[in-house]
Parts: sequence; C-alpha cells; structure tokens
Amino acid sequence: MAGWPADWWRRIGDVRYHERCMSEATAAVRSMTPRLERVRARLGEERLDALVLLNAENRRYVTGFTGSAGIAVVLPERSHLIVDFRYVEQAREEAPEFSPVRVSNLLEGLAAFLREAGARRVGFEAETVTVAQLRRLRELAADVELVPLQGLDRMRWRKDPQEIARISRAAQIAAAAFVEILPLVRPGVVERDLALELEYRMRRLGADGAAFDAIVASGPRSALPHGRASGRAIGPGDLVTVDWGAVVQGYHSDSTRTLVVGRASGEQRQLYRLVREAQEAALAGLRPGMTGKEADALARQRIAAAGYGDHFGHGLGHGVGLAVHEGPTLSPREEAVLEPEVVVTVEPGIYLPGWGGVRVEDLVVLREGGAEVFPGAPQELLEV
Ligand code: ZN
Ligand code: ZN
Repeated sequence: MAGWPADWWRRIGDVRYHERCMSEATAAVRSMTPRLERVRARLGEERLDALVLLNAENRRYVTGFTGSAGIAVVLPERSHLIVDFRYVEQAREEAPEFSPVRVSNLLEGLAAFLREAGARRVGFEAETVTVAQLRRLRELAADVELVPLQGLDRMRWRKDPQEIARISRAAQIAAAAFVEILPLVRPGVVERDLALELEYRMRRLGADGAAFDAIVASGPRSALPHGRASGRAIGPGDLVTVDWGAVVQGYHSDSTRTLVVGRASGEQRQLYRLVREAQEAALAGLRPGMTGKEADALARQRIAAAGYGDHFGHGLGHGVGLAVHEGPTLSPREEAVLEPEVVVTVEPGIYLPGWGGVRVEDLVVLREGGAEVFPGAPQELLEV
C-alpha cells in the first residue's frame, strides 16, 4: 500500500510485545483474593456488615463471573454471588471464591439474604444502583441501613499484567482489521458499510466483539466527535474519522484514525499535523504522579496556542478496561492523580462545523518512565 511506512506490517505483527505481555500475565496471580481483600478493606473503613456489587464491571472484576445478571455480596468472613437459575453453574465455575445463592428475583433474594446474614449496615455503589432499585430495596429490607459508596470502580483503574495483555490483544486485532478495510475506503462507499466491515474483520481476527458501534464520520460529519456511522456515501476529498475498538476476554480497545479520500488539501494536512503534534506532546509528557488535568493540558495548550482551543471540546482521554469508558479521565476537571499501570486513551481532536474534524486516538499504559503506546494503526495522515 503506497505511502505506508514499510516497517508498519512488521511492527503490528511483532509478537514479541504480546509475548512479553502474555508471559507477564501468566505470572500474574490468577486468584481473585487480592481484589476481594481490597473490597473487604472498605467494609472496615466504612464500618459495614456487607457490601453489594451490582455494577457489571465491578462484579466481574471482583468475582470473575462473566454473566449478565447477579449481585455479589461481600461479608467480613465470606462472599456470595446471588444469581438466578440460569447462572448457578456458571457462577460456580467462574467465581469459585463466591458461594452461589440461587434466587428467583435478585433484589428480593438480596433482601432475604441480608436479613438472614444479620447485616445491618450495607454499602452499595452510588453510581450504579437506580432510584427505583434503592426504593425497592428499602421496602424489602426496611431494617437495613443502605450506605451509598462512591468511586468503588477506582479499584479497577490500575491494571495487572493479564488485563494489560488482553487490552493489548484487543488493540492489535483492531489495528489489523482497520488496515484490512483501508482498500475499501473510496468515493461512493457508505459509512455504515465500512463500520460493519470493520466489525466483521475484528471478529474474524479473534475479537469477541466490537467494543462499541464504530464511528465512521465522513466529510462535514467528521466534525461530529461521536458521529454514528450513517447512510452517507463517502465523497472525494472527504476527511473520514473512524473510531473503533475490539473486545478480548472482557477487555476493550479504543482508537481513532482520520484519513483523507484522495489527496489531502493544505488545510486538512495542517490541521492533522497540529492534532498529531498535540498528541505527541501528551505521549511524551505523560507521567504517573501528574493529575488528569495536567495530562490534559499537555495537548490542550498546543491546540489552544494555535487558536483552536474552542474546537477541542472534549477531554484528552479516559481510562479503558472492562468498560470502554472508565476512570481516570484526562480532562480539565480531573483532579485524580494518575498512577502507574493505568490504561488511558490519548485523543486530541479539532472539529470545525461545516468543514470537518480530525481526531487521533491511541491507547497507552502508564509506566514509571512514561507512556507506553499499545500497538495501533499507522499514525500518519492516510490518503486512500
Ligand atoms: Zn474512541
Ligand atoms: Zn476514547
């Protein structure tokens, strides 16, 4: 493919990176005990008799259970997984450190269980439990004090080697699928068809699925930061923003490339260069110990200095893991300090209504020495 760095295929196919990740993963502790102990520590801190996890990602993170419904209950001495009949066997298999409790209705079953366990003060995830669920639970367990806990998902921010290996694999598959569909990007092709093709290729390459509905936004639509792939046919000279990701064993990838159909105009080229420079500044400057706000500024300053500050309306990045959007965020409002082994996106963008937009997004893991970029598609402006 013309215009491509000759070493790209070698880089993306370089299995050494993945081998290293996978061997680190093998050495990682497989047991859920350390995660369970961290949740248990919250019991003491908050003087709770029990803590219930309803959030799907938190539940999976702590128990290993991948089913779509269930409530994990952590008590000081034991832990249980409340499930309905569909999931009893699966819970036994995937979450050996949790005793399955079979119920016919999850909330009713939870209330009965808490009553039986004698739990008086019970913590729950404030960001997950709905008003309706809380109201119902209060009716069912009137004598239980329900304590809202915030930020429980922070336990998922730092990734272990196994998690990093899965994200890396997802990123590798996503990049390879993107390269496969590039020859299909030409005038007349419909955005939705490209998105579908991308998803199909990712699954063929071994992904469990797409991380989210791929964004393919062409021409003036590329000015929409989250423009869903539409029925629009791509035209000559269009900027096309593609934002996509894969899922591997529950872990997501998330990346964006912007390409031009045909030869790029001077303005397109200039804007692309600015966005890439902003991204490079962030990649070079990211360090554990800085706040999400400081990280965001690394790229934002560059874009603002060039006069496009008002056209970079979103944060620089976000955490990625069991959820495609999780903490910490890199944004002007994020006060949280970035720790080593957090996985975040670095995705500056400039959007000019009526003209188009440019965004480049890569995934990194923060190491002591700085940001380590996951394998991704070529970063130069692609003219296809
Ligand atoms: Zn994205
Ligand atoms: Zn993103």
